[in-house]
Amino acid sequence: MRIVIKVGTSTLAHATGRLNIRRAEALCRVLSDLKNAGHELILVSSGAIGLGTGKLNLKERPQDMAGRQAAAAVGQCELMYQYDRLFAPYSHTVAQMLLTADDFSAGERRTHLENTLFRLLEMGILPIINENDTVATEEIAVGDNDTLSALVATCARADLLIILSDIEGLYSADPHTHPDARLIHRVENLTPEIIALGAGSGSSLGTGGMATKLHAAQIVTAAGIDLVIAAGQNPDILYRIVDGEDVGTRFVSAK
Ligand code: GLU
Repeated sequence: MRIVIKVGTSTLAHATGRLNIRRAEALCRVLSDLKNAGHELILVSSGAIGLGTGKLNLKERPQDMAGRQAAAAVGQCELMYQYDRLFAPYSHTVAQMLLTADDFSAGERRTHLENTLFRLLEMGILPIINENDTVATEEIAVGDNDTLSALVATCARADLLIILSDIEGLYSADPHTHPDARLIHRVENLTPEIIALGAGSGSSLGTGGMATKLHAAQIVTAAGIDLVIAAGQNPDILYRIVDGEDVGTRFVSAK
C-alpha cells in the first residue's frame, strides 16, 4: 500500500516544545518496519514551530507571524536532524519537501511536485513533508498540516491517509466536556451533522483540531482515499490500522 501518515506537534513534542524522544523513536521504528514490509510511505510532519519554540527557549509559540516563521526556521532544522538520526539505524533515507498551497494548484509546480515525489518513492526514500512555514503567509499557506496531508495524499494517489493526533478519533460530542461521548468508528457520509462535530480548536503548540481533520476527510474521500484518524500516543497503533483493524475513526471513500 502507499500510505501517507501525518503526525501532529502534540505527538512529537512535549508541551515544553522539546522532542518527545520515546514517541519519536517508536514512530521511526514502526515506520521503518512498515517500509521493510514493502509499504510505500510518505510522512507529513508538523513540529517545526513547536520544536523551534522549545529550542529558542520561548515560553510559548510566538504570537506574531515573523516570530512563528523564525521559530519554524529553527525547528524545521531540528525536526529533520532528528528524523535523519532516528531512521539511520534502520537504513532508511529521508528527504525533506517544504510546500505551500501554490504547489498543489494544477500546473507546472504540481507536475514537478508529483514527479519528485514519485521519483523519491521509486528510490525507496521516505519523503517527509511540511508546509514551508518560513515563507507561507496567510494568503498562500495551506494553513494546517491536516489539510496539507490530504493534498499530499491526493497528489501521491495514496491508498490510505492516516492522521495521528492527541485524540482517538471523532467523538459524538466533545469528550473533554461530555464524559459520555462515544467514539465513532466509521463514517460513510460526511453529513452536516458530522461536520458540526468539528467545532473547537487544537493544542497549544499545533494548529489543527477536529475541523481541519474533517476538511482533510472531505478532500481525500472525494478522491477515493480512506482516512483513519487515531491516537498517536503509541505509534504501534499504525500496525493495527494497516492490518485493517477497527481503531480510531475511519472515513470511508466512495470508491
Ligand atoms: N507546519 C506547522 C509546523 O510544522 C504545523 C501546522 C499544523 O500543526 O497543522 O509547526
